[in-house]
Amino acid sequence: MYTCGPTVYDYIHIGNLRAFLFEDIVRRWLEYRGFQVTQVMNVTDVDDRTIKASKALGIPIKQHTECFIKAFFEDIEALNIEKADYYPKATEHIPEMVALVKKLLEKGYAYRGEDNSVYFAISKFKDYGKLARIQVGDLKAGARVKVDEYAKEEASDFVVWKAWDKDDGDVFWVTEIGKGRPGWHIECSAMSMKYLGETFDIHCGGVDNMFPHHENEIAQSEAATGKKFVNYWLHNEHLLVEGKKMAKRLHNYYTLKDLMAKGYDPTAIRYLMMSAHYRQQINFTFEGLEAARKTLERLTNFVHRLLETNGKPAGDKINQLNEGVQKGFEAAMDDDLNVSVALAHLFDFVRDVNNLLDNGEVSKEEGKGICDLMSKFDKVLGVIGQVKEKEKLPKEAEELIDRREDARKNKDWKTADQIRDQLKAMGIFIEDTAQGIRWRIEKD
Ligand SMILES: [Zn+2]
Repeated sequence: MYTCGPTVYDYIHIGNLRAFLFEDIVRRWLEYRGFQVTQVMNVTDVDDRTIKASKALGIPIKQHTECFIKAFFEDIEALNIEKADYYPKATEHIPEMVALVKKLLEKGYAYRGEDNSVYFAISKFKDYGKLARIQVGDLKAGARVKVDEYAKEEASDFVVWKAWDKDDGDVFWVTEIGKGRPGWHIECSAMSMKYLGETFDIHCGGVDNMFPHHENEIAQSEAATGKKFVNYWLHNEHLLVEGKKMAKRLHNYYTLKDLMAKGYDPTAIRYLMMSAHYRQQINFTFEGLEAARKTLERLTNFVHRLLETNGKPAGDKINQLNEGVQKGFEAAMDDDLNVSVALAHLFDFVRDVNNLLDNGEVSKEEGKGICDLMSKFDKVLGVIGQVKEKEKLPKEAEELIDRREDARKNKDWKTADQIRDQLKAMGIFIEDTAQGIRWRIEKD
């Protein structure tokens, strides 16, 4: 599985992260289903944008990109995204790119322009436009585009090797095909085929990468090898913020670090961004984020109850619920990763088991069995494990609870109530049950 990675010219925004999260779910689901996945995610550390950004700051490109590579990995970790097996950097694969360009020249799919750059001739590749479903029939002969990013309407011969010009400064390689640097699209063709072979199973990316990036990857790779490049393409839809496309000028542009600095929990962000179907747009709102946090709290409390339960066995009732939720969850995920339906099954299950718990049912062993099932689902969702670890009572609260117990033993109800209020102010709610004290954390 190849997933287009970050272009490390700036901090990635939450729209980029949606793509990486979606790919994480694809991978986790395949692994849940017993597939062995090899995931490659490239790091674009040389292209138009990285050169422009480092030049603007007047620092060497490597120094510039290293800082954002580090930030990228911090974001991935905060969102509990599983690591890919390989993170190849473009700057470390120049010979592979040069070899590919040479092959395209030899086969007549590429040609040299007056500027000495090498261009791919899209008219030579009969399937050009198939992925993005565009017609290029009425293309003006000889039209060429040298920038990495352009629109469908500008479909034309695109650059695979950029001859050096003064704007590139000290960013160039001296190679058999001349002094210059690779075009962005050839980077992904060269690196994906190096690690996964000439034909591989899955290629993912955001829908905005479908054209021209993925269309061009197919053209370059298939023209060079004569083989099918990728068996399945998966593209995730955009992320909107408060109903609008994210843009710095609209002040609705966020990085993960922005949100964490505002106090938002990355697990809630993860939950919010993965809970919609990948082929649908997500509207990211702060209200939604708050709802995600509460939902996670519900899941955490559920797991706590299961760990503490010591009720009478519910027997078949539990078996049926366990079986039902597993079937429902798996069928939904198998249906093109329908996460929202899978989650609906999960929350029906939580409600039903909570009802049993309310009636004093669910034995210790049954509770443990359900916890195991929840952990199994969480291998895909990646949200409960993290929450569980965080859900420890602060030491101060534990001491208060002990003092309250003492007060109750001494029938000092006034102190006991005072302490209860004190805990409440800390967001800790306690309940006196036949099995002892039960607590939960709820912020506001
Ligand atoms: Zn790519």
